[in-house]
Amino acid sequence: MTWIAALAAPGMVQPSPAIAEVRIFACEPEWAALASDIGGDAVHVYAATHGRQDPHYIRARPSLIAQVRRADVLFCSGAGLEEGWLPVLLQRGARATIQPHQPGHLMASAHVRLLDPPSRVDRSLGHVHAEGNPHVQLLPANIGFLATELARRLTVIDPDNAETYRRRLSAFQDRWKDATAGWTGRTSQLEGMPVVAYHEAWTYLFAWTGIEQVAAIERLPGVPPTASHLQEVLELARTAGARAILRAPYEPSEGMEWLSDKAGIPIVELPFTVGGLEGVDDLFDLFDVTLTLLETVRDRH
Ligand SMILES: [Zn+2]
Repeated sequence: MTWIAALAAPGMVQPSPAIAEVRIFACEPEWAALASDIGGDAVHVYAATHGRQDPHYIRARPSLIAQVRRADVLFCSGAGLEEGWLPVLLQRGARATIQPHQPGHLMASAHVRLLDPPSRVDRSLGHVHAEGNPHVQLLPANIGFLATELARRLTVIDPDNAETYRRRLSAFQDRWKDATAGWTGRTSQLEGMPVVAYHEAWTYLFAWTGIEQVAAIERLPGVPPTASHLQEVLELARTAGARAILRAPYEPSEGMEWLSDKAGIPIVELPFTVGGLEGVDDLFDLFDVTLTLLETVRDRH
């Protein structure tokens, strides 16, 4: 830890020049949670956002700039999710080691199969998923891939703690494999359930569970609904027998409330990330709670 070096008096044993504590700047809480799981005491994790903030729209405020300047590793979703704020942070004095193409620059979307591949829709229309769907955290396999990739990067950056990262990765993957097997047993009961979403936030969750999104309240990702679009969504929801409107904690509720009222279906808030709902304190909770809430939707009469 650098403060020990600063306080050390002449003649005292100086700490190793190797990084004593790798500082990880995680753009979203899910990556902060994974970084803590893999890094343990060898890392210091800073989460740039909390679970009830919209990661598409964050202000590059001075406290974030101060944190990113000290970071040894940047761990974010990528695929344009942080386009409105991360480039600004990186330009404000972030180290060369966390700039693109460096081991300290880890974008989750670069290590998984991206869904909703880039479309022809022009970004100037307000479309925020122009590089593919960046919300990759809601697929258990993706978390497993990122755990391995993060451990690999940490080992390169901080070889002194390689054994710690190897051991923690192995323990995490064992637990994650067991948990995933349990969750996958539950997803078959959700297959085909029709729902409405506000934003294309659940694409990976739906790909995994077989839940069917019959409409999105946004006209395009990042483009709020018009009255006529809402009317269309209502028709689609009625025709398909949608069971619920799924809401991420930060999403606006006005259009949802109108639709909920007209279609006679509930708005169900899912955590979306760690800390999105009370009691969702880690990645295991994230999937447990999400599935439990979806099962409640399924069982509602
Ligand atoms: Zn999005």
